[in-house]
Amino acid sequence: MSAIPLIDIGANLTNRRFATDLDEVMARAREAGVAHIVITGTSENASRDALQLAQQHPGFMSATAGVHPHDARHWHSESADRLAELLSEPEVVAVGECGLDFNRDFSPRDQQLTCFEAQLQLAVELQKPVFLHQRDAHAAFLALLKKYRSQLKGAVVHCFTGATNELREYLELDCHIGITGWLCDPKRGADLRVQVRDIPVDRLMIETDAPYLTPKNLTQKPKNNRNEPALLPVVLEALAECRGESVEVLAEHTVRTSRAFFGLGN
Ligand SMILES: [Zn+2]
Repeated sequence: MSAIPLIDIGANLTNRRFATDLDEVMARAREAGVAHIVITGTSENASRDALQLAQQHPGFMSATAGVHPHDARHWHSESADRLAELLSEPEVVAVGECGLDFNRDFSPRDQQLTCFEAQLQLAVELQKPVFLHQRDAHAAFLALLKKYRSQLKGAVVHCFTGATNELREYLELDCHIGITGWLCDPKRGADLRVQVRDIPVDRLMIETDAPYLTPKNLTQKPKNNRNEPALLPVVLEALAECRGESVEVLAEHTVRTSRAFFGLGN
């Protein structure tokens, strides 16, 4: 375990899988050395819930506000205004998660593009960083990101699991990269374990993406295989091992980077 208090930059704590025992989940997170959690907003309603939760835990939690590409079909003429309202609260630190997902295609692609571009414009207007999701949509995603990148305050490609050229192009656009427990999967994470060596240390942040992406290398499986912020140190340790760095030094860097990126106080 790291002695440095960690920051989980992406946890879906408003997910119903946390509905009954959130207090215990938070207690375990603190015990594991997680000092701050950025709750991911994935729809108008989930973003509102995330803000509420963050307001109940000042200093320990922040939130993002956005519409996930899976939810893009619900994007409407007032969505941007509603998100802007949430984003005016000090606890809401980024626009997102937003982006494109052509892997699942839960929303039609044209609607995903509209919804993503509108949120990029919102982030430019409000000068908040963006929390980005991309799956199997690199070309279209990169084109839109490029169009707005110079005006964006910051951009993190969360849960990066893409190809090496995609990573290079994100870094060329001065994006930050969010690393999850995907790294702990010996099979699916094999490429990522090599790729993470080439990410500049000041562009790296860590996240659980709880309740998803439970690390595969755990000797003791959590109940119902649900991931939670208390497992963030597992991601940190895997990342340090892949990069050949000390856990302590890496922890310090990711925390400093996360604080600066999201504008979190000390
Ligand atoms: Zn995502």
